[in-house]
Amino acid sequence: MNSVDYDIVIIGGGIQGVGVAQAAAAAGYRVLLLEKQAIASATSSRSSKLIHGGLRYLETAQFGLVRKALRERAILLHIAPDLVRPIVFHIPVYKNSSRKSWQIRLGLSLYALLGGLTPLTRFKHFSRAEYLLCDGLQTDELSALYRYWDAQTDDVALTRAVMHSALELGAKLRCPAEVISACHADNIYQLRYRDKNGEKQLSCHAVVNASGPWVNAVLKKIAPQSSRLAVDLVQGAHVLLDAPAPSAIYYVEAPTDKRAVLIMPWQGKTLVGTTETRFQGQLDMIRPTEEEIRYLQAVYRYYFPHRGTNIIDAFAGVRVLPKAEGRFSNRPRDTLLHMSSPGLLSLYGGKLTGYRATAEQVISHLRSCLPKRKAKANTAKLKLYLPSD
Ligand SMILES: Cc1cc2nc3c(=O)[nH]c(=O)nc-3n(C[C@H](O)[C@H](O)[C@H](O)COP(=O)(O)OP(=O)(O)OC[C@H]3O[C@@H](n4cnc5c(N)ncnc54)[C@H](O)[C@@H]3O)c2cc1C
Repeated sequence: MNSVDYDIVIIGGGIQGVGVAQAAAAAGYRVLLLEKQAIASATSSRSSKLIHGGLRYLETAQFGLVRKALRERAILLHIAPDLVRPIVFHIPVYKNSSRKSWQIRLGLSLYALLGGLTPLTRFKHFSRAEYLLCDGLQTDELSALYRYWDAQTDDVALTRAVMHSALELGAKLRCPAEVISACHADNIYQLRYRDKNGEKQLSCHAVVNASGPWVNAVLKKIAPQSSRLAVDLVQGAHVLLDAPAPSAIYYVEAPTDKRAVLIMPWQGKTLVGTTETRFQGQLDMIRPTEEEIRYLQAVYRYYFPHRGTNIIDAFAGVRVLPKAEGRFSNRPRDTLLHMSSPGLLSLYGGKLTGYRATAEQVISHLRSCLPKRKAKANTAKLKLYLPSD
């Protein structure tokens, strides 16, 4: 009989939390995930839905992140073929683009190298005759057009599939269940949470704070108080337009401020995103602003002047970025793991793409605080799918 209820309790059912639940259960630990709203109800349903290395991160020399993400992309394409699919990207280069054609070629060559020169890392330079095949893209002053491959997913479905895999490995889930406080004494955490039946308490050896943008708010609930990382919360919005889905993802520059914007096929329509604005509202009410919506519509109208920009849907999510001076787009995008006291590990930021590798790292950081258990599975080999019901 165990006197401590669980080895690991995870706070948050976004992609990072469910990833840790799966990795912990696969490593043989007794694990519980507590989610206050619904699985994938926050940032993990409001992403750009890309499983990618992050071509743009090469400009800020995040080579390690790109290599790792490309490795994860390959694993996910293999273990989740129904949820993660290769998709073509187009990068148009105009006379006034801030990146020249040779820079794009260099970036794509490096991307191919970091991706292991597999068939999916091949890229191509379009001939002028082929410009006409590009969904009605504005071709005035177009000086080059590149094609390369990355992958697209349904972020909600992927998150649910990883949770399903965790449950199959024996993890437990309580949802909706909100963690309201915790305290640490004698190497054991006592956690209090509230579900539909009222307040409850449980004990565990380790706590993983995977609460996304609430990360520091959750840390404040845990006694004794421990250190928190300084962050900026940055909002990113998308609009779903009533325009036919393009045949590829267009990676363009906003004509006004030259920021990268993606124009993507999504559910038979066109999804355009994202913005990067400092988040100042309440985390339980994240919505795109009128300005963000107008900005994204204007970018789409500029590149596809003959298509409609009526809005079907608009959504926004909040990124957790390390606090620093300068542009948000230049901040590191890798997940930061912060062990603020023994057995209390918080996840800051990161990518949907890297969830599995991050989760494996979390487990190796916590191993010394946990009892010995016998591993059951390898997450790099477990197939991901949604149950049919
Ligand atoms: C606009 C945008 C676009 C992006 N696009 C991409 C992309 O294309 N590809 C990519 O790889 N990455 C992308 N990312 C990054 C990726 O989406 C995020 O890194 C990821 O979704 C974060 O997941 P998470 O689990 O950390 O947080 P979340 O998904 O926000 O999950 C945190 C969960 O914690 C729960 N919670 C909070 N407090 C409590 C509590 N007290 N008790 C219980 N539960 C609690 C919340 O309800 C929530 O469900 C994007 C991010 C943004 C913002």
